[in-house]
Amino acid sequence: MELDGRVTVVTGGTRGVGAGIARAFLRAGAHVVVCARRPPDEPVAAAGRTAVFEPADLRDPAAVDDLLARVDARFGRLDVLVNNAGGSPYRLLGEGDAARHARVVELNLTLPLTVSLAAHARLRAAHGSVVMIGSVSGTRPSPGTAAYGAAKAGLANLARSMAVEWAPEVRVNTLVLGMVRTELSHLHYGDADGVAAVGRTVPLGRLAEPDEIGEAAVFLASGRAGYVSGASLLVHGGGERPAFLDAATVNKES
Ligand code: NDP
Repeated sequence: MELDGRVTVVTGGTRGVGAGIARAFLRAGAHVVVCARRPPDEPVAAAGRTAVFEPADLRDPAAVDDLLARVDARFGRLDVLVNNAGGSPYRLLGEGDAARHARVVELNLTLPLTVSLAAHARLRAAHGSVVMIGSVSGTRPSPGTAAYGAAKAGLANLARSMAVEWAPEVRVNTLVLGMVRTELSHLHYGDADGVAAVGRTVPLGRLAEPDEIGEAAVFLASGRAGYVSGASLLVHGGGERPAFLDAATVNKES
């Protein structure tokens, strides 16, 4: 199989996008470690194989070192790091002070930097790769999640610099995600009707499934992407139709 015997850590792999990524790596034959503050509601499993859960609050650098030491003890190597843990509440800029917004930057930018630095020597030894989980929020205005968008923009740029500094041994890439259907989608888009209506705004007509994000992450981590580094891959179903086209009074047919 594509990633037979490779060892992959998926931060925040216990639910949502991260669980989809973990399942895709399991299907590709990798050993998968998922970490989060709380255990998954049910084991993360696919293709008859189950991910190992390791508890960690990754904002604490000592906890990151401890996590990687546990991965060493169990598997003795690390081939792929998927920096997936992240997210943000909806909060307009004026509704929080700078320290509050900075916590969002810490989770979405400082945390993946911390884990990547701690993992670097192991990834170099394995000629492995890092996959950052970015967002289209980092490429367009993000009212209500401004600090998150800024952090995701920074994350994609961090990945490009990391790809240069850590070449040729370690490849570093970013998946830039559009909307993904997760257990928490209702918090962002409302009930099933809301999720479906939001999906219809995407050219492909729906939100992504977490496992589809996983397939793209497996591609970036695999030998098929052996010459891909410092890249950002958009996985957004065609993106957003420009709003001005709907407002214009000509060319309405497309
Ligand atoms: P969820 O909130 O559903 O999952 C986040 C995961 O990260 C959970 O496993 C959570 O577990 C873990 N986590 C959060 N904080 C920490 C921490 N301090 N230490 C360790 N683990 C932590 O998020 P999504 O699945 O929606 O998003 C995953 C990634 O995908 C994020 O980077 C997000 O920005 C990105 N993304 C998601 C989109 C979407 O539509 N869902 C769109 C674009 C990007 P626990 O709380 O137990 O620690």
